[in-house]
Amino acid sequence: MTTMDTSEFRTLLEEERQRISEAIEYLSPENPGNMQDAVGELAGAGVDNHLGDMATVTFDRELDEGLGEGAQQTLDQIDRALGKIEDGTYGACERCGKPIGEERLRARPWATLCIDDQRLADRGE
Ligand SMILES: [Zn+2]
Repeated sequence: MTTMDTSEFRTLLEEERQRISEAIEYLSPENPGNMQDAVGELAGAGVDNHLGDMATVTFDRELDEGLGEGAQQTLDQIDRALGKIEDGTYGACERCGKPIGEERLRARPWATLCIDDQRLADRGE
């Protein structure tokens, strides 16, 4: 249980959620205008090496998918964080239960681990 004021973080999370939702929508397969625009731009730029052209397009597509995946993951974390605000456990580390710290939460409002446990998690421990 924490005594911190979560209203500020709720606002941060809701703003970030909105921003990421829009990014996902922009990158979604139901919105293929993206990809065609990118290819159109390449053609218009006078790229005459066919192979190079294809490689660039493939790279762009992978990049977009990677971003979409990462964004979806962050969105899930944001939803979890909002749920924690609701049940009063926001700001506590999921592993050790210690406060995550306001400074860290300002940088990553959806963080669910304290910095020490995050470092361990990043190393796969
Ligand atoms: Zn911890």
